[in-house]
Amino acid sequence: MELLYKLCLFLSLIPLSSSLDWDSDIVTTDEEKIKEDKDHLSQYFNETKKNADFFPSWHNMSKLIGPFEDVDEKKIHNHDYTKMTAWLKETALAYPNITSLYSAGKSTEGRDLWVLIISDNPTVHEELEPEIKLVGNMHGNEVVGRETILYLIDVLCKNYGKNEWLSSLVDGMRIHLMPSMNPDGYERGFDGDRVGYTGRENVHGIDLNRNFPPKYPNHREKTSGLYPEKETVAVMAWLKSYPFVLSANLHGGSLVANYPMDDSEDGRDGVYTPSEDDRLFVELAYRYARAHSNMWKSGRRCGLSTEGDVFINGITNGAGWYHLAGGMQDWQYRFTNSLEITVEMGCFKFPTNAMYPKLWEEHKFALLSFIALGMGGVRGIVRDSNGQPVANATILVDQGKPIYSTPQGEYWRILPPGDHTVTIVADSYESESFSVSLHLPSSVVVRNVSVSSCSSPVDKGRSVYRRGQGKTRIAIIGYSSVSHVSLSRLLTESCLSSSPTQVPSDLSLLIIPSYSSAHSTTITNFQPKSIIVITSGAPSSVIFSQRDTFPPQFHKDNLDKSLAKAIPSNGACKNEGSETRLAQEVDTFNVEKAFSLSISIGCEGEEDYDKRWAAIFGTVEMVGRLLSSDSVSEYSVLPSANPLDHFSPTEALLSTSASLSIFENEQKCAHRIEHDRLTITAVGTGRPPFTLVTAIEKRTESFVYEYLAALCNSTLSRHVELKKRGTILFVPEIPNTQQNCHDYGSIDPFRFLFQDVQSAIPSLDMAIFVATGGLKVRYLDPSGHGLSKSMGEAYKKEQQLIKTAEFDVCSSDRNTISGGRTMSGKEALGGMNWSDTQWEGRAAADALLLQVGCCYEERASSGHYGDNEKALTAALETRTRGFSVPKDASLVRDMTTKKEWRGRDGAVFVPLSYGVHQMEIEWKNGNNKIIQFTITTSHQLEEYLPSSLSSFPILPAALLAAFILIIGFVALRQMGVSLYRRPFSESTVGFERIPLYISEDEDEDDVIDIRKL
Ligand SMILES: [Zn+2]
Repeated sequence: MELLYKLCLFLSLIPLSSSLDWDSDIVTTDEEKIKEDKDHLSQYFNETKKNADFFPSWHNMSKLIGPFEDVDEKKIHNHDYTKMTAWLKETALAYPNITSLYSAGKSTEGRDLWVLIISDNPTVHEELEPEIKLVGNMHGNEVVGRETILYLIDVLCKNYGKNEWLSSLVDGMRIHLMPSMNPDGYERGFDGDRVGYTGRENVHGIDLNRNFPPKYPNHREKTSGLYPEKETVAVMAWLKSYPFVLSANLHGGSLVANYPMDDSEDGRDGVYTPSEDDRLFVELAYRYARAHSNMWKSGRRCGLSTEGDVFINGITNGAGWYHLAGGMQDWQYRFTNSLEITVEMGCFKFPTNAMYPKLWEEHKFALLSFIALGMGGVRGIVRDSNGQPVANATILVDQGKPIYSTPQGEYWRILPPGDHTVTIVADSYESESFSVSLHLPSSVVVRNVSVSSCSSPVDKGRSVYRRGQGKTRIAIIGYSSVSHVSLSRLLTESCLSSSPTQVPSDLSLLIIPSYSSAHSTTITNFQPKSIIVITSGAPSSVIFSQRDTFPPQFHKDNLDKSLAKAIPSNGACKNEGSETRLAQEVDTFNVEKAFSLSISIGCEGEEDYDKRWAAIFGTVEMVGRLLSSDSVSEYSVLPSANPLDHFSPTEALLSTSASLSIFENEQKCAHRIEHDRLTITAVGTGRPPFTLVTAIEKRTESFVYEYLAALCNSTLSRHVELKKRGTILFVPEIPNTQQNCHDYGSIDPFRFLFQDVQSAIPSLDMAIFVATGGLKVRYLDPSGHGLSKSMGEAYKKEQQLIKTAEFDVCSSDRNTISGGRTMSGKEALGGMNWSDTQWEGRAAADALLLQVGCCYEERASSGHYGDNEKALTAALETRTRGFSVPKDASLVRDMTTKKEWRGRDGAVFVPLSYGVHQMEIEWKNGNNKIIQFTITTSHQLEEYLPSSLSSFPILPAALLAAFILIIGFVALRQMGVSLYRRPFSESTVGFERIPLYISEDEDEDDVIDIRKL
C-alpha cells in the first residue's frame, strides 16, 4: 500500500516540477513597484507601512520574541484525524492549567470539530479579556493551516512561563484554535496535491466556504448548497457563542492575506469591495503578510508561469481578487463582532511531509504577529447609572461596523491607529460618546461607560430629546400644553424596549415637547426631512410645505380621517395649526425641502391623552415610512401590530412566529432563511419546484403559520407526500403588512415581495398569495402553461365554501348578479394579470391569489385553516404533479401541446395533468429523447426522471380507493363544521377597495394604525 501510494505521488509531481517552479522567489517587476505605492496599504498608511512597530517583519518578530523552544522537528509532518486528535488530547493533558479542549460540533461523518483554548484561565471568560480564534482546513485539502495551528499550540504551551512575549499572549487573551473545520474532507484528500480539489468540499460535495448565508443569495454557486451543512451550522453557532474579536481563516493554494468583502455587489470578479472597516482590514492583512518571510512581497507567486497570482504587498481585497458568495469571513463580518481575514498559506494545498519545516519557519512569526493584534484597541464595560451591565449596547465608531456589548456589558473594538470617536447607543438609554487616540496597534485603552436612562434630555438645559439612529430625520415639535403632555408620554413610551412604539430603525427623531424660538437653530442644524408640529385644535392636519416636498403617496384626507377617528375631541378650541404665525415660525427653521405639517390633537381639558400620543406616533411612523420607502421595499400601507386574539396559548404558539424555532430546531422539518427584512421558512426537499406561500394581510398570517405547522407535524399521507415533492417557501409575515380587508383589482404591489424572495431562491417561479376580501380564487398565468389555472381549479374543488359557487359568496351585490349583470372580478374562479407580463426580460411569476374570507366576518383568522387546508393542499399537489429533469437537460417539450420548458439555474420542473404524456427531452450534449408515461393520481410524481419509462410506480387501486374514501369523509365533516360556524349575513357594506393611499374611497383604511392605541 505504502509503496503504491508513494509511486502515485511521485507520478503526480513529475509534470509539475518540469513545467514550473511553484516555490520560486517572488520577483517584483517595475510596473508592480509603481503599483506598490498606490495601493490601499499606501493610501491608508503612507510611510507608516515601513514602520516596524506597526508592521514587523519576520526578522523584527524574531528579535522581539527572543529565544524560545520551537516545535520538535520530528513532530513536523501531516496529521490525519486520529493523529491530530491525539496531538490535541496529549497537549490538553500535559498543560491542564493553560489549555481546555472542546468540540464545536460534529462533521457530517461524525468527526469532532476540535477547538483547543490556550489561556491563563482557559475554562472561563475573564472580564474584558479578548477572545480570538484561528480556523484551519475549512477546505479539506488545504492543510497548511491545520498543521501550523498544531505547531503554534505546541510553541505557546511549551514556552508559557519561559518566554515573556509568548506568555503575554496566553495571559492577555483567550485563544481558540480549530485546526480543522472539515475533517471529513481532509480524510479524502492526499498529500502531494498542489492545486487539486479532492477533499476540498464536505462529504455532501458542498464547499463550506460558500455555504454560509450569503449577502446576495442570487450569487450562490453550484457548490453552495441551499441549506447550511452540519459543519457550517456548528461553526455559526460557535461564532455566536463566544465574543470573538479577531480571527483568521487559513486556506491554501496561493500566498496572500485576503480581507472582506468577498462578494461584490454585482457578483463580478476583480471589483474592490471594501467593508466599513477597510483601513483596519488592510492593517490586519498586511500585519500577517509582513511577518511572513515572503508573502509581503509584490509580484507573481506560485510559479513564474501565468499560473501564479500577482499580488501587491501580499494582500488583497476578497472580491478585488475574485468574488465568492456565502463565505465565512463576510458572514462573520455582517453578523458577529469578529473581524476575520482569510489567509492563503502557500502555493501547495496539501504538502508532503518534507515541505513542512520550511513552511512552519515562514509562517510562525506571521501567525504570532497577527494574533497579538487581538490585544489592541479600545475595550470597556457599558453600565447603567446603577452600575448594572448593559447588554447589546451598540458601539459605533466613525469608520467601521457597529459592534454590540456582551451580556456582561463588555465590548472590544480593534481600531487602526489614530484618533477615533466612539459612541455607545443602548435601547432605553441616552447615547454617550468619547474620543480615543491609539498610537500603536498594540495600544489598549480601557473605557468603561456609564449610560443614563433616556427619559433625561440630550440637551438638558433646553429639553431637547433624541430617539433612534436611523437615516430619516424627523423633528417633532410641541406647540401647546396639550402637545407637551402627549409628547412627554411619547418620550417615556418610546424608551421602553417592550413598547409597541419602538422608534423604527430607519428613523431618527428630534423631539421638543415645548417649543420656544430658542430651539430654532437646533432644528435647523438637525436638517430634518420632515417637521411635524403638534398643536391643539380639532383633530386634523395642516400642510405647510410646497407640493414638491410631498412624499408621493401622502394623502391628507386620509390622515385627517384617521386622526378624527383616533382622537375623540369635540374640537371646541382654536386650531393653532391654521394660524399664519405658526407657518411663519416654521419658515424661520430655514430647512429647505423638509415636508412640514402640523397635526392638531384636540383641546385642553379633554381626556384620553393615551390616544393622542399614540396618534402622534402613528403619524410620525407613517410619514417616516413614506419618506424612507421606495417602491421596492414598500409592500403595503400599514405597519404591523401584534394582535393574536383568536387562539389558545398552544394554538397561538403554532400560529405565530414563535413556532419557527420549534420547526427548525426541535422538529428539524423547516429551514429558516433570513433575507433582507423577510423570514422565509423552507419545508421540503430543498429542490425544485419552489412555491412561495405568503400571507399578504395580517388577517391571513395565522392561517399560513398553521398550515406550516400542519405540514411539519402531520402524519397525514397527503402532507407527508407533499414534503417529498419539492420545496414550499413560507413567508407568513411581510413587513408593513395590511391590517384591513381589501378586494383586489390588482396584486402588482406584491411583485416586489415575490422578487425579493426570488433573489434568495432564484429557481422560485410560483407564488400563492393568501388574502381575504372575498371567497374566491384568482390565477395569474403569464407563462401560459396553464398550471396556475389548474391549481385554482383544484383549490376550488376542495374548498367546501366555494366548490359549487359561481360568484364570490361574500359579495354584497348578489342581487345584481341574479339580475343578469356581469360581475367581472367577482367570479369564484377567475383569471387576473400582472400589469407587466415580463419582468426584467423573463416571464412574470405564475401565481394564485386565494381570498379566504369575507371582509365583514368578525371571527377574523381562526376559521381560515379549517376552511382552506385541504384546498391549499390540493393546489400544492397540482403544483408538484410533474417532474424535475436532471441538470444536463436543456429543454423539455410536450409532444401533444408543443409547450416548452427551458432550464433556469439548472432546474426544470415540468407540471403535468393526469393522463398519458409524450415528452421530448433535449440533453445538453445534443441528444434528444422522447419518453411516454402516464400520470394516474395526483401523487404519482417523480423528482428525477431517468431515461427508462418504468420509473412511475402505479399506486395499487385498492389503496387509492381507500384514500379517496378518507378524504371524502373528512371533507364532509369539515363542511358541516364550517357551515355551522359561518353565519353569512346579508351585508350591504361594500369592500372593493384599493390598498394604497391614492384611493378617494370613503372606506379607505386608516393611514395610521389605530389598533395600537
Ligand atoms: Zn480554500
